[in-house]
Amino acid sequence: MDKSFNAFKMAQTQFDAIADKLNMNEASRELLRNPMREYHFNIPVKMDDGNSKVFRGFRIQHNDALGPCKGGIRFHPQETVDTVRALSMWMTWKTSVVDIPLGGGKGGVICDPHNLSAREQEQICRGWVRQLHQNVGPLRDIPAPDVMTNGQHMLWMLDEYETLTGAKYPGMITGKPVGMGGSLARTEATGYGVIFTVREALREMKINIENTSASFQGFGNVSQYAIELYTQLGGKVLCVSCWDQKDQKSYAFYKKDGIVLADLLKITDRFGGIDKVKALELGYEVLPGDKWIEVECDILVPSALENQITAETVNKISKKVKLIAEGANGPTTPEADIVLKERNIFMIPDFLCNAGGVTCSYFEQVQCNMNYFWSKDEVLGKLDYKMTTAYHKVSKLAREKKLYMRDAAYMISVDRVVRASVARGWI
Ligand code: GLU
Repeated sequence: MDKSFNAFKMAQTQFDAIADKLNMNEASRELLRNPMREYHFNIPVKMDDGNSKVFRGFRIQHNDALGPCKGGIRFHPQETVDTVRALSMWMTWKTSVVDIPLGGGKGGVICDPHNLSAREQEQICRGWVRQLHQNVGPLRDIPAPDVMTNGQHMLWMLDEYETLTGAKYPGMITGKPVGMGGSLARTEATGYGVIFTVREALREMKINIENTSASFQGFGNVSQYAIELYTQLGGKVLCVSCWDQKDQKSYAFYKKDGIVLADLLKITDRFGGIDKVKALELGYEVLPGDKWIEVECDILVPSALENQITAETVNKISKKVKLIAEGANGPTTPEADIVLKERNIFMIPDFLCNAGGVTCSYFEQVQCNMNYFWSKDEVLGKLDYKMTTAYHKVSKLAREKKLYMRDAAYMISVDRVVRASVARGWI
């Protein structure tokens, strides 16, 4: 990981450029370029070996003008408070661009679930909620899964919250397991949402998806479901890269006739790590991890972490690439954006492209509040509608005003949050 990279500085740089374009007044800038509230705390845990260990946790509430804060909790050994700040800010733009009545927040714990037992992870989840139960909740701030957290973590957190408050609040957290207050299709939602936007972009570009190929970075929840839908629609995935925990570096898995998702899933651990020995046996070329970006294909889908398409790596992108769909949050730096703009590579920016997860989280909350759950088809139909509508609103503005897609998405979402803040009398 590049230690000099600061995600929060990047999020603020992006915001400042838009604030200039929108001619924003000083108070609005001050309100939006920093989070409204931050919580930093210790989570002491009795480990399985009898020793105690203290983990550092965060929750950052960037803005709640449009509704309660919303956003995931990441478990990552390199988590920093500035990364969580940036991610909370991007959540504000994400909920706003898809027009759902929620604000933006993000949480994190510095830890590596690869090296923690299920019981130890449960203690971290419960400890996180013990520190924060007065500051989160269905009407304040609603967490969800993110990097290295899943439905089980959400359920432990919900259980702790309900134990402390003495009542049932299924809308306190989303991404819960189905049957325990979770929504059907929530697991698929982020990846499928990425491909709904890719499908619309290709339609506008008059490219048949069946004639396209793609390279994916990351093989976690987002990539796995994005690849599933993309291949169902006829696309061919040539390469997927993932992190190898044992070697502490990433590898790219390449197959010129197209990867077979079902085969790869059989040799993948629960963190999205692919077994390279078994992949070689299945006929995959195993390359250094950064090769995913050099693959000659039509579409790049960075779906791992932030700071991946940078001033250094952007020039490795093949001439064939026409479209980048950001499944991850913050994968492209502002310096790389300048090059992509010049090269006329079409960008579906992160907070639009990967908004399917939070949109389905919103549906999960609605279903929890009604205590009535929809069929998978109903959820996916509503998700497709929301994503497609948001995509076209952004692309229309981009075309009319000749804007880069990221700038158009920012203009729409920032403007909505400013209006809500003005309407409330904050600024
Ligand atoms: N962690 C996901 C994101 O970055 C989902 C957030 C949510 O569902 O609240 O968008």
